Amino acid sequence: MSLAETAPVPPAAPPEPPRLEVQNLTRIFDGQVVLDDVSFSIPAGQVTCLLGPSGCGKSTTLRIVAGVDMQDAGKIFVDGALVCDTVFRVPPERRAIGLMFQDFALFPHLSVAENVAFGLTGPRAEKRARVEELLARVRLSRHIDSYPHALSGGEQQRVALARALAPRPRILLMDEPFSGLDERLRDGIRDETLALLKEEGTAVLLVTHEPHEAMRMADQILLMRAGKIVQRGAPYNLYNAPADRAAAAFFSDIN
Ligand code: ADP
Ligand code: MG
Repeated sequence: MSLAETAPVPPAAPPEPPRLEVQNLTRIFDGQVVLDDVSFSIPAGQVTCLLGPSGCGKSTTLRIVAGVDMQDAGKIFVDGALVCDTVFRVPPERRAIGLMFQDFALFPHLSVAENVAFGLTGPRAEKRARVEELLARVRLSRHIDSYPHALSGGEQQRVALARALAPRPRILLMDEPFSGLDERLRDGIRDETLALLKEEGTAVLLVTHEPHEAMRMADQILLMRAGKIVQRGAPYNLYNAPADRAAAAFFSDIN
């Protein structure tokens, strides 16, 4: 008998649940179906872009995942554990989900260090070490004691990113996070942001209406229209084989 036949077979590891799983999400406002049976999942460490025109339901999806709005039907799981359905609901602050929005929303009366430390708990020295680590990573160490008004838009964006990542959220939700920035700076900041997200291993759901941004940043794109996901897949699969004319038109203005 060969060694291979006698060696004990290790038990198969159970498959890892996705970091985020959204099942059959439906949201109705004033009789209008704004989200219609939306389902998707995000593996750990991946960036998923929810891409679609204004008004298609992207921000509503994020708000429900964050726990600040509630669905009319559907379920959300984080690491395989139920976070909310229509009767059960883990409060937003206990979901380990980070948020980052277009307007950064830094606290103007707090220093850069205090902003980044805001969501942190634990011993002071550990908090300080995490703040210093992240500020070094976003090249803002020299601004650790500055206040937000003294920073440029791009610098404020990097502080907001450091603040969102500081508590090591299991999922980071980003709603049009670059749209407030100067057009000429955006691609550089997108690339830097993506590099940091990958280093931290954060699972990300990023909302955008710009196909170029989704192509540049996503592992997976969810193409959304009028409350439904009409196509999903790796960026180049969507670009090369759009599901229909409207999807093709949406991608056609990428240069
Ligand atoms: P997107 O982020 O893709 O631009 P939203 O999710 O913000 O779209 O909105 C989707 C639709 O839901 C829009 O028609 C919007 O007017 C409607 N909507 C969003 N929030 C509310 C609300 N609180 N009450 C009523 N209608 C809403
Ligand atoms: Mg929106």
